[in-house]
Amino acid sequence: MANAFTADIDLLTANDDGLAPAGRNIFTFHTFEGQDLSAEAMARYQLSPAAGGSYHGVIDAEGRTARENDDEYIPWAAMFTGNRAGWHWSLAGRASFTREQWLARPKQMEKCAIVLAAYAKEKGIPTVKRSHVEVRARQGGVCGHDDISKAWQESDHTDPGVNFPYDVVIARANEILSGGTAPTPAPERPQPAGEFTGNKYPSYLDGRELRFSEYLRFVDYKITRLYEAEFGTGADLGIKDGTFSAASVGEQYPSYVDASKSFTLDQYLRLIDIKATRLYEKQETANA
Ligand SMILES: [Zn+2]
Repeated sequence: MANAFTADIDLLTANDDGLAPAGRNIFTFHTFEGQDLSAEAMARYQLSPAAGGSYHGVIDAEGRTARENDDEYIPWAAMFTGNRAGWHWSLAGRASFTREQWLARPKQMEKCAIVLAAYAKEKGIPTVKRSHVEVRARQGGVCGHDDISKAWQESDHTDPGVNFPYDVVIARANEILSGGTAPTPAPERPQPAGEFTGNKYPSYLDGRELRFSEYLRFVDYKITRLYEAEFGTGADLGIKDGTFSAASVGEQYPSYVDASKSFTLDQYLRLIDIKATRLYEKQETANA
């Protein structure tokens, strides 16, 4: 499936939650915070699971762009609900910027308008700034991470800040759209080699492609729900002392059950094993 906008470079990250559900209808601006980095440096940073975040793309102060996730994927940008609600692009810059500071970066503002116009055209997103109340009511349009924070109260981020010039960006996006000069959609292209972690395997359920780490986390999510339904939330799993992190190796991945927690793949497998075992034991006892 083609992306709405073709970035200057692609540095696709494994920091994603798999394929997005249907019904996404917002375009969300973020700021990267900290020092101004180039688009490539921002995207390179988010190749690492340790970065704990990702977007669909980033735009630097000079208007250069890098793609981090293809459009059909769920990035790690605005917590569970926000990540699944729309497309997320982050800007070099800070939420504390004044309007003057933003407008002093015309190349970046122009690229914001071009990217927004591309998504408006390809995904049918209205070029209308939405409040957090409207976002919560699932009205399509343009918003910031701050609106998502207030809409679903899953995070406290305030980017891209109260002074971000939505009026200027949206007006220019409308100009591009009416002039018919919106960039053409990206062509179909093969998966790039390297840079992301793990092969993808088509699901037996519906054929969507997931990485090993994603399968494990989805299984953990489902077994945890079953476990909690049987034993209640917070029930003691009875993990044998000293074994939880023993021999644990590799990167940590955030849990789909509780995004504040991260585990290695071997820990996910061992957690799934103990929860499945407890459920199995309960079943066997009931049958005895
Ligand atoms: Zn943000």
